[in-house]
Amino acid sequence: MKVEKRSFGKTADGTAVDLYTLTNDRGMQVRISNYGGTITSIRVPNREGEPGEITLGFDQLAQYEQQSSYFGCLVGRYANRIAEGRFSLDGKAYALAQNNGPNHLHGGRRGFDKVVWRAEMFHEEGRAGINLYYQSRDGEENYPGTLDVKVVYTINNDNALTIAYQASTDKETIVNLTNHTYFNLAGSGDILGHEVVLYADSFTPIDETLIPTGEIRSVANSPMDFRTATPVGARIDEADEQLKLAGGYDHNWVLKHDDEPVSLAAVVNEPTSGRVLEVYTSQPGIQFYTGNFLDSSIAGRAGETQRHRGGLCLETQHYPDSPNKPQFPSTILKPGEVYRQTTIYKFPA
Ligand code: BGC
Repeated sequence: MKVEKRSFGKTADGTAVDLYTLTNDRGMQVRISNYGGTITSIRVPNREGEPGEITLGFDQLAQYEQQSSYFGCLVGRYANRIAEGRFSLDGKAYALAQNNGPNHLHGGRRGFDKVVWRAEMFHEEGRAGINLYYQSRDGEENYPGTLDVKVVYTINNDNALTIAYQASTDKETIVNLTNHTYFNLAGSGDILGHEVVLYADSFTPIDETLIPTGEIRSVANSPMDFRTATPVGARIDEADEQLKLAGGYDHNWVLKHDDEPVSLAAVVNEPTSGRVLEVYTSQPGIQFYTGNFLDSSIAGRAGETQRHRGGLCLETQHYPDSPNKPQFPSTILKPGEVYRQTTIYKFPA
């Protein structure tokens, strides 16, 4: 088990950025940059025990700075969409950047994915990790309150990558943090053959701008039903209104929770490599996004390009547009409270 640090170069505005490599004793290796708290690589063994890359990403820092598809990064202050970028808090109306059609997406023009975090690496018995800190000032991207955020990434010898999020504020605000890694457990090709289970009986249907309508709808008798293992591609191109609106899967599922601090939210099985991903979380929802907006115009690693549906995201989160949907679990954080969420991406061997 070890953690190492090297330079990842300088951002366009001249800030030095590092790349941390976390390695366990079972062939798992995770690389994370303090630029955007970005997971730039995860390597885990296949069924033959050969480690291989299972995320989409880039070789160069500049590529992370230039892209707008959120490869591997942390997302905040509010992950996912807020309708027309508008919400009210404490009787005051706020207007956020409308950076995705009419809506606000993933924290705005310069969200937590595009800032440099302060990092500390650590290594202790059975765990290696990094602590990341970012202070988002009052009014940054038009959000109220100075928000102090800490994110801890750790790996262990169970091939589990744990992401622990914590935040506090000096003024009432809204918070929704996630990570936006695109997984491809085969290491190449598209993700249509990946078999997915989502531990959810319902989802939040969307309108034509991908904002939840407010309804909580059963997944039964629809292509949104992933209660038993189903290949991503089995129904993705069906003439289903919800799939048409998003060009595939790009929806929030309402997770079933037991009394544990984290519950199993999703399992992905890639039959050709034999790799399996289990997702555990404390969060109430998960955005299952099948890379519908990716295309080969985006350069990838080592001269390759990203491809349509070449990766899938399992973004644990609060429901999109919660600030405007009083019936959804609240995303308000008040002074004196601590926001805490944990998500685990585990690769059982
Ligand atoms: C959203 C997609 C969006 C993507 C950005 C996902 O969380 O749900 O609609 O295109 O992030 O890469």
